[in-house]
Amino acid sequence: MYFTNKTIVFANGEFVKAKDATVSMFSQTLHYGNGVFEGIRAYSTPGGTKIFKAREHYQRLKDSAAKMHIRCNYSVKELIDITYEVLKRNKFSDAYIRPVLYSGINMKLVPSEESMLFIAAWKWARYLGNKLLHVTISSYERPNPNSCHVEAKVTGHYVNSILATQEAREKGFDEALQLDLNGNVAEGPGTNFFYEKDSVLYTAPLGSILAGITRATVMEIARHVGMEVREKLFTVEELLEGDSAFFTGTAAEVAGIGSVDGYQFPLPWEDSMGYILAQKYRQLIRTGDYSHSTTII
Ligand code: PMP
Repeated sequence: MYFTNKTIVFANGEFVKAKDATVSMFSQTLHYGNGVFEGIRAYSTPGGTKIFKAREHYQRLKDSAAKMHIRCNYSVKELIDITYEVLKRNKFSDAYIRPVLYSGINMKLVPSEESMLFIAAWKWARYLGNKLLHVTISSYERPNPNSCHVEAKVTGHYVNSILATQEAREKGFDEALQLDLNGNVAEGPGTNFFYEKDSVLYTAPLGSILAGITRATVMEIARHVGMEVREKLFTVEELLEGDSAFFTGTAAEVAGIGSVDGYQFPLPWEDSMGYILAQKYRQLIRTGDYSHSTTII
């Protein structure tokens, strides 16, 4: 599914077939999870294939790398150029793109001198599908911001996401919603979270969440069309009096939520602010008119 015999990836400085790309069994990333990555999408637009928010994603990759003492030998522009080349060589327009900066051979608990870049792309449907989601509050909190850089997209952090997702699936839910270390609602295992109450949107502030690029985009669209958005801490009790809710993320886009632990949101999804934002987000990614402007609609 992620690659065929013909798929081309960028690995160790060159374009090679995915089946021929190799990594050392002694890579520090494999043993200790010290790697950084991104999840990006490209869309087919009237102006050709466009990588959505390419600069923002690659700047975040470089910032994540700096936080984790992982060297990044590429500029944002070089990373974008390599990515367009990966798309071209695979004849992809709509695609999910996965860059990973991983560490070299090193079994010590000190950063590696060496880092390698891997970029692959594949066709991926919306990560959480198109149906309204049934969500459960996870028993796994988001990582403690005093023990790691939660704002960096670090490979090792995703063991927490895997545990939360698996727990939710085992309980018969579609997705988990995770709390921060103080019991406030934080985000999903791979998405940010919003809820609507009395025509105001609420989302957790930065601190225990990943600063999602979709989150920022959706807030920008919302404010542009006159919606009120408040970044504030909130509890599960407050959420369970909400009118509607949704997740945002590159892979999931804007995904509507039907219920949280059996609490059915009263507002029909089609009448919610999230629904309008989902439509506007789709419009934005499809027109491709976003590369050099902050005025996006
Ligand atoms: N939170 C987490 C934990 C994530 O993994 C992601 C996906 N990168 C997001 C939020 C959403 O971020 P973005 O909108 O930049 O994809």
